[in-house]
Amino acid sequence: MRRPKTAFITGITGQDGSFLAEQLLNSGWQVFGLVRRSASGNLWRLEHLIGRVVLLDGDLLDLGSLVQAVTTAQPDHVYNLAAQSFVATSWKQPLLTGEVTALGAARLLEAVRIARPDARVYQAGSSEMFGTSEADQQREDTPFHPRSPYGVAKAYAHHLAVNYRESHGMHVVAGILFNHESERRGPEFVTRKISMAAARIKLGRQKVLKLGDVTVRRDWGFAGDYTRAMHAMLCRDQPEDYVIATGESWSVSDFVDRAFSAVGLDHRLYVEHDPSLLRPAEIPVLRGDASKAREELGWRPKVCFDALVERMVRADLKREAP
Ligand code: NDP
Ligand code: GDP
Repeated sequence: MRRPKTAFITGITGQDGSFLAEQLLNSGWQVFGLVRRSASGNLWRLEHLIGRVVLLDGDLLDLGSLVQAVTTAQPDHVYNLAAQSFVATSWKQPLLTGEVTALGAARLLEAVRIARPDARVYQAGSSEMFGTSEADQQREDTPFHPRSPYGVAKAYAHHLAVNYRESHGMHVVAGILFNHESERRGPEFVTRKISMAAARIKLGRQKVLKLGDVTVRRDWGFAGDYTRAMHAMLCRDQPEDYVIATGESWSVSDFVDRAFSAVGLDHRLYVEHDPSLLRPAEIPVLRGDASKAREELGWRPKVCFDALVERMVRADLKREAP
C-alpha cells in the first residue's frame, strides 16, 4: 500500500498548527506534530484531533530532539510554525526569542538537512519583519526594518530559510504572513483580548478592558485562510516566498467598535487606556499586497474583517457562558 503524504508540524499546539493539522488530515495527509513538555498542559487546541495526529516530544531549543522527530516522521512537508510569537514578550525576553524564533529555525533546517533533505519546508515569516516601511503596501520585495526583537528574530529565520534554498538546494519556502486571528488565538493578542472582554463584560464577568495604543492599524485575516496558503505554497514545485494578507488595514479601535457592537454594548463605557501596555517601539500601520499569492497560488481570503470579529466574539460568548 502507498504511504500517505506526510507532514511534520512544529508549533502544532498553537493557533495555526491546529488549523493546518485539521486541514491536512481532512485532505488525507498523515500528520506528525512536535510538542514540547509543559507542566500545565498545552493541548487544548488539539483536543478534537487527539488520536488522529501523532505527537512527538521535542523542542526547538534541542537539536537532537528535532533530528529524532524528523527521522521518525520522514515527512514530505515540514511546517516550522513554532516560535516565541508574542511581540510584547520579545522585549522582555529578547534572548529567549532569539534562541527559539531565530536559532530554533536554524536547528530545524539543520535537522531536515540531516534527516530528510528532500522534504519541502515552510518557514513562518511575519509582517513584523517589515516594521516601519516606506511602502503603502508591503510586498515580497519590500525592505525589512524590524521594530522588535521578535521581528529581528523572524528576519534572521527568513534569510536563513532563503539561504538553505540557495546554498543547499533544499525546497524551502518562506511565507510572509500578516496578522491572522481566530477563536483559537492566544488571549494575550489584542484581537482575542478584545473579543474575550466584549463577551465577558456582556455576561457581567468583567468590568473594564485596558488597552495600549488603539490607533495602530493592522492587516487582519482569518487563520484558517492563512494555513491554506501555507500548504498551497509547499505544493507548488518552484519554492518561492509569498506575502499573505487581505490588503485591508483596520485600527485596534475598529476592532473594539465592532466587537462591542456585536454584543450590543457601547465600548466607550468600558475601554480604558493603560500606558503600561504601550510598546518600546511601535509599527503604526501594516498593510500587505498578496498579488503574487493570488496570481501564482490562486489564494484568496474567504473571511472578511467584520465576519472575523463576529466569529471571535460569538465563540467567546459561548465559551464564557455559565
Ligand atoms: P502561537 O503562539 O499560537 O503558537 C506558537 C507555537 O510554538 C506553540 O505551539 C508553542 O508551543 C510553540 N513553541 C514555542 N516555543 C517552542 C519551543 N521552544 N519548542 C517547540 N515549540 C515551541 O502562534 P501562531 O499559531 O499564531 O503562529 C504560528 C507561527 O506563525 C509562529 O511562528 C508565528 O510567529 C508566525 N506568525 C504568526 C502570525 C499571526 O498573526 N498569528 C503572523 C505572522 C507570523 P506551546 O503550545 O507549548 O506554547
Ligand atoms: P502583533 O501585531 O503581532 O504585535 O499583535 P498584537 O495583537 O499583540 O498587537 C497588535 C497591535 O495592537 C500592536 O500594535 C499593539 O501595540 C496594539 N495593542 C494595543 N493595545 C494592546 C493590548 O492591550 N495588547 C496587545 N497585545 N496589543 C495591543
